[in-house]
Amino acid sequence: MLEKIFAFILGGCVGSFLNVCIYRLPKDMSIIKPRSFCPHCKKPIRWYDNIPIVGYFLLRGKCRFCSAKISLRYPFVELLTAIIFLILYSHFGICWNLAKYLFFFCFLIVVSSIDIDYHAIPAYLCFLAIAVGLLFDIRATIHCLKIGAVRFDPKLLPIFKALRGLLFGLGFTYLFKLFGDIFINLYLAFRKKESIEGEKESLGLGDVDFMGVVGVFLGIKSVIFVFFLAPFFALLYSVVAMIFKKSHLIPYLPYLSLAAATMFFWGNHIIKFIGIIF
Ligand SMILES: [Zn+2]
Repeated sequence: MLEKIFAFILGGCVGSFLNVCIYRLPKDMSIIKPRSFCPHCKKPIRWYDNIPIVGYFLLRGKCRFCSAKISLRYPFVELLTAIIFLILYSHFGICWNLAKYLFFFCFLIVVSSIDIDYHAIPAYLCFLAIAVGLLFDIRATIHCLKIGAVRFDPKLLPIFKALRGLLFGLGFTYLFKLFGDIFINLYLAFRKKESIEGEKESLGLGDVDFMGVVGVFLGIKSVIFVFFLAPFFALLYSVVAMIFKKSHLIPYLPYLSLAAATMFFWGNHIIKFIGIIF
């Protein structure tokens, strides 16, 4: 019990750091220096105002100095990260996979948030995640070889599974992007319409790189399911947005992330269920 509380609190602190990453990475700022400050009046935030989740409510969502509103996303990201730490710790216990998938979920949170703000993500984020994922798999592979677990089938080595996932994730999504782009451009040409800037693309290159990350961490099957699951989440959101008359122009990465999280938790059930139908 005590350990789970610790996992939750640690998650909140990491969430606080993720907020820093979300704010600073797209601006090319250092994520270490300077310490946290109010984006409005630039005054450093006091340590007791910076306590994850709680700090926001103690300040009633306003900066202590200039009373500028603090986005509700700060406590949301902290709470979400804390819950994910708690769930993954309960699921894995202390092991390498815990570290690997904690990293993966932190990645999902950061890229989704940045994509919502900027409709694009720094390209190096996906490459970094792919590199980290492969490092975890290299470690697991060395471990497998040491204990002789896969002596008979080298194809089952974690690093090969990860590389297959990577190539498939990139290739599969890129093909879809190519066909999608051709289709959209034909459509626009046929209707003699000028596209609004940026709308000539079916999928951004960021989405393609992102699916490479999914391939490394979740494998080939998940790539396919994430790809076809994400539009359902997008559709669901569009319906809700239409009912509440909100703008539903939201970038795609949050839906892909949601689909990836769904596959991580319920992937086996979903694949089994589909298997029963067909
Ligand atoms: Zn301020």
